[in-house]
Amino acid sequence: MYLLDHYAAQLDELKQQGNLRQFTSNSQQGRWIEIQQRRMLNLASNDYLGLASDLSLREQFFDETPNAHRLMSSSSSRLLTGNFPEYERLEASLSQAFAGRAALLFNSGYHMNIGILPAVSDAKTLILADKLVHASMIDGIRLSSAKYVRYRHNDLQHLSQLLQKYHDDEAFERIIVVTESIFSMDGDETDLAELVRIKSQFAKVMLYVDEAHAIGVRGEQGLGCAEQYQVIEQIDFLVGTFGKAMASVGGYLICHPIIREFLINRMRSLIFSTAQPPICMAWTNFIFKKQLTMTASRQHLQQLSAYLQQAVQAKGYACPSTSHIVPVIIGESQKTVDTAAQLQQAGFYIMPVRPPTVPVQSSRLRICLNTQFQQDELDQFIALL
Ligand SMILES: *Cc1c(COP(=O)(O)O)cnc(C)c1O
Repeated sequence: MYLLDHYAAQLDELKQQGNLRQFTSNSQQGRWIEIQQRRMLNLASNDYLGLASDLSLREQFFDETPNAHRLMSSSSSRLLTGNFPEYERLEASLSQAFAGRAALLFNSGYHMNIGILPAVSDAKTLILADKLVHASMIDGIRLSSAKYVRYRHNDLQHLSQLLQKYHDDEAFERIIVVTESIFSMDGDETDLAELVRIKSQFAKVMLYVDEAHAIGVRGEQGLGCAEQYQVIEQIDFLVGTFGKAMASVGGYLICHPIIREFLINRMRSLIFSTAQPPICMAWTNFIFKKQLTMTASRQHLQQLSAYLQQAVQAKGYACPSTSHIVPVIIGESQKTVDTAAQLQQAGFYIMPVRPPTVPVQSSRLRICLNTQFQQDELDQFIALL
């Protein structure tokens, strides 16, 4: 019991700060979520295109996939016996869409971000990372032997200054700049065109851009902000995930074939983990190809997003968002939790986001839009704010 007291005391402290996290059971149907018999509009899902909740897509997929091809386990790493054709088909689809560049798949975005950076960095590497990059990239940086400096969030001028400072330092053979395109907590975005322009001025620089929240959502074919700003070929490590708009699971890297081959030989979270079930790969490929033409859905999402951003601002909240992720920044954790609870009472499922996910005193309601919402549903929610 004595050994457990240590943890129990910390849990008590979290509870007092309003920062205790818990699982909640739920059931979902389309854009609705039901928790403890309360049916609410789900404003917290990452299913941005509404594909994960689309029953007809699932039916079509299973109709096309005979039982013999519904492999539920790969039973090993891809380097042993786990390299099923489904992997190669999905990588080929990605390659084809992404200008013929090489593609490599990972079990999750987390595996991807904790694995790539340690593999491609050494003591002669400097990593410059945006202050707000996702925890998975922070963990990847920590696992690496690179030196690491963070630049002010979305401040490319600060990044330029740091590059000028470190670029001619002989201690470093390469500098990897790490950022997201659309940021998961503020919904704001990096100016990728400017980032690429900055890179072109410094010979030692490689870019690492995480498009977890942009794949499916941005670009004519849903290939992300890199497609939207026409910089697919200028980003050395273009990564993203399938768990959000792609309605599946996993991560991908678009890169040079040399990097791909290097990672297959050096990336620990790829080498030492059982590969995803082939059926998941087949499903991801099915969805990826379908979403290439969902341009109208993406436009609808864009319109809803602009509408909500303006409304939140009109209510007097600072709104950094330029995307479908729209925070309402309240500040104090307990107040944020209480506000979220009230909105849930009123039928809108909104999650509070608190430290350590976001900086202290910037607790917020995080609204994730998806293509299934109508404007009048948002109006009802806005009226309550
Ligand atoms: C969700 C997310 C990840 C993690 O991806 P998973 O596939 O869920 O492990 C990585 N990076 C960013 C920016 C994310 O938002």
